[in-house]
Amino acid sequence: MVNIARRRRWRLERRCRRRHPRDVPRRAALAPPRPARPAALPQQVDVVVVGAGIVGLAHAVEARARGASVVVVERHAHATGASVRALGHVAVTGQDGPTLAPALASRDRWLALSRQAGFVAHESGALAVARVEDELAVLEDLAAARDGAVTLLDRAGVAARLPRATDGVVGGAVLSMDLQVDPREAVPALTAWLARQPGASVVHATAVVSMEPGSGRTLVRTTRGDVVARRVVVAVGHDVDGLLPEVGEAHGLRRVTSQVLRATLRSTGEALPVVAGTALLRQPWVARSPHHRRILVRLEDERPRTVRAGVALVVTQHAEGRVDVGSTRLEAPAADPFRQEALDDLLLTESALVLGEVPQVVERWSAVQATAPEPFVVARPQRGVLAVVASGGDGMTTALGLAQRTVEGFF
Ligand SMILES: Cc1cc2nc3c(=O)[nH]c(=O)nc-3n(C[C@H](O)[C@H](O)[C@H](O)COP(=O)(O)OP(=O)(O)OC[C@H]3O[C@@H](n4cnc5c(N)ncnc54)[C@H](O)[C@@H]3O)c2cc1C
Repeated sequence: MVNIARRRRWRLERRCRRRHPRDVPRRAALAPPRPARPAALPQQVDVVVVGAGIVGLAHAVEARARGASVVVVERHAHATGASVRALGHVAVTGQDGPTLAPALASRDRWLALSRQAGFVAHESGALAVARVEDELAVLEDLAAARDGAVTLLDRAGVAARLPRATDGVVGGAVLSMDLQVDPREAVPALTAWLARQPGASVVHATAVVSMEPGSGRTLVRTTRGDVVARRVVVAVGHDVDGLLPEVGEAHGLRRVTSQVLRATLRSTGEALPVVAGTALLRQPWVARSPHHRRILVRLEDERPRTVRAGVALVVTQHAEGRVDVGSTRLEAPAADPFRQEALDDLLLTESALVLGEVPQVVERWSAVQATAPEPFVVARPQRGVLAVVASGGDGMTTALGLAQRTVEGFF
């Protein structure tokens, strides 16, 4: 009976693939991942890292590089948090103030780790697209501030990189220090690489429930037993409000929910991230520019719904002509379980204004991340425990560099 059903499904897939070769994923991609038995939890270790998102992995890499034995404890069977749901734009060029040094250090780490762990980090730079003169003025100021790292483009220069760029585009810039990674490839590759390093392990499907101080050690209680550690790094992103609520409250941490689309385009042009509209305003350097307020007021007047929904257009381009289009941004104490089609429509409208075509959606998802007044929350809630949250909305850009600094001060 089962075999007949299987054979039928296989025939159906084969028929569909013949008709729509690009639309039907291969059989392996359709099957749910097989549950793997979690690695054994060591009884004693130098460092326990809680959470296998980019912040946790970054701290584990740094602790390991300093010779410490490390176990990363992740509550899910594989990481499903903000890091794998992100767009993968490592936005270095537009950072400023407290995020610039971590982003620059992160850039070097991404490139080194991509070679070691075997994933792709494109040194493509990013394409910032200006649709109005005030946006171009901001890019000119950024070019003056980032000597040599920003190449200004006229309309033809943008069109050379983005073939269907609309008539509304007035110019742009290549932000050459930016990188592009595919989080769905990079995060699992980094996790697998780390787990292969001597003295390191990653234990999935295991939640940390509490941390109890002892004499120079911390007893980490998990759903699969206890571990004694010299140091504990809590890197659970927005879930810090559950595990260490006092940290969340002290630092004004809140939750932000975003909607993101994966799509195909008829014409992709150069494979580099595209940033436009309110996403330009989110770049920390631009946020501090004198033009910021003026552009925001104009956008609020022209496209009030887009601004209210926090639509910041970033398009990252991955293998086989796929693009990830993000994202919307709504603050709420708990994520709305119901995706809003109207928000996706705003994202698609905004993309069409820049890309010159409406992307054909193949996948939709939402993601939750932490936000706070400061771009990083680094706290020591108890002796031997460090809590780290990338709360600036760009942990994929900063975490690998931030970890170098926090680990140095903690060991
Ligand atoms: C839609 C979207 C797009 C983004 N795009 C970009 C981008 O292009 N560039 C950029 O720089 N940044 C981007 N970001 C931001 C970036 O993704 C986040 O800053 C970053 O991923 C946060 O990493 P994290 O490790 O703190 O969190 P997470 O990736 O969420 O990891 C936390 C982990 O902790 C685990 N955990 C929680 N509680 C426990 C527990 N008790 N025990 C064990 N494990 C636990 C969770 O299961 C989870 O795996 C984006 C964010 C979103 C939402």
